Amino acid sequence: MSESQRIIEVTEKFSANNYHPLPVVIAEAEGIWVEDADGKRYMDMLSSYSAVNHGHRHPQIIEAMIEQAGKLTLTSRAFHNDQMGPFLRELCDYCGAEMALPMNTGAEAVETAIKTVRKWGYGNRPVAPNRAEIIVCDGNFHGRTTTIISFSSEEEYKQGFGPFTPGFVLIPYGDADALEAAINDNTVGFMTEPIQGEGGVIVPPDGYLSRCREICSRHGILFVLDEIQTGFGRSGKRFAHMYEDAEPDVLILGKALGGGVYPVSAVTASAEVLGVFRPGDHGSTFGGNPLAAAIGRASLRVLTDEKLDERSFDLGRYFRQQLREIGSPLVKEVRGRGLLIGVELESEVGGARPYCEELMERGILCKETHEDVIRFAPPLVITRDEIDQALAHVRAVLTP
Ligand code: PLP
Repeated sequence: MSESQRIIEVTEKFSANNYHPLPVVIAEAEGIWVEDADGKRYMDMLSSYSAVNHGHRHPQIIEAMIEQAGKLTLTSRAFHNDQMGPFLRELCDYCGAEMALPMNTGAEAVETAIKTVRKWGYGNRPVAPNRAEIIVCDGNFHGRTTTIISFSSEEEYKQGFGPFTPGFVLIPYGDADALEAAINDNTVGFMTEPIQGEGGVIVPPDGYLSRCREICSRHGILFVLDEIQTGFGRSGKRFAHMYEDAEPDVLILGKALGGGVYPVSAVTASAEVLGVFRPGDHGSTFGGNPLAAAIGRASLRVLTDEKLDERSFDLGRYFRQQLREIGSPLVKEVRGRGLLIGVELESEVGGARPYCEELMERGILCKETHEDVIRFAPPLVITRDEIDQALAHVRAVLTP
């Protein structure tokens, strides 16, 4: 039995069975490359669902982490620490926001945004007490807490977990008229992803986000974008909303903000919107901790210094074009922005999982999303040569 098989056995015995990972055990990683417990090398084409945009163990981020770990790691918010303020200032500069509220995981940042929008709504909209509504989209993915799954349109995510949190209204994704029709006096905001990542890398029609922006402004409700997966260069811009005139009132961030080494998330907004919070309203023991803040600062510096958004734009365009040129009869569509790419297989092919398994055998790690879609989302530090290496395997696997 290989070392990897031994580890999978122990993992399956002691871990709750809430995931269906590919049978590979990663033990080491650097840049876009990972190595399994038996020494086999793979190219990472998933980047931990876009949390590893900088590549694994980016030297500057690891250095910042070690340096901070040698000084101060946790204070709680009972006291100030010397890293959080500078981190939030740099984050606001990066996002064009006035204020930020730091959290840890993506789901916590989404929960924070929901509380922000509701509290703002009770002060600024004609909402009946405890009746605030947030409009969300079919096919959304915003995390796994009880409130967040309450407004999922995926039965699988909800089965057995009720009762659910009220106050959410589902509309079709990509349909701005449906947004306008769903707004009433109790509506406080509209929350969506600029590209639905977990939903199958769904890019909405051109002009959708800017129309939503305009509709929200006209009706006086908040436009909230979850860029946890699409942010920090993944889409080929700093943020995916930058493809249009669609600046959100509330921006939700996570994943790559932690540089692939630590959970760091945040909500950014204007001082008016985030100004709704008062001491005692909200909090997290680890949110804004000095280790997270130092890592977040290094992550932002690397994104800017290495122009990872521009790399992602150019290499993403090349990658998609090459994928289309394969001309495989198994492929229905190649879509995406930047290095967030979905290859949707024809429905009669019978699902993407076997193709991901075959790619794994060939040393390329990617994961199916929504049955029929292979998602390619490599670290943004990947080179064109490395994309060509991956393409040779993808071509072989997709050629019947
Ligand atoms: N929002 C989006 C758009 C996501 O893609 C994810 C994770 O995949 C989340 C929220 C949840 O983030 P986390 O898993 O860190 O809670």
